[in-house]
Amino acid sequence: MEVPDKVICVDCGRMAYRLTIEPEFGFSNGDWVAYRCSGCGDRWDLEVSMSTKPSTDPKNH
Ligand SMILES: [Zn+2]
Repeated sequence: MEVPDKVICVDCGRMAYRLTIEPEFGFSNGDWVAYRCSGCGDRWDLEVSMSTKPSTDPKNH
């Protein structure tokens, strides 16, 4: 499944870029993906989950 290349750092509001390389067959539910903030340098670990999809409304096709 897809994970974002970058996320917004909740501490400083800058972009945090993905450190973890996508596996050959993609990420799967329960994998952990690391991000490094370009502003404050904090590391963020996000768990890949089916329920935390990007905020796209499926009704907007
Ligand atoms: Zn930050």
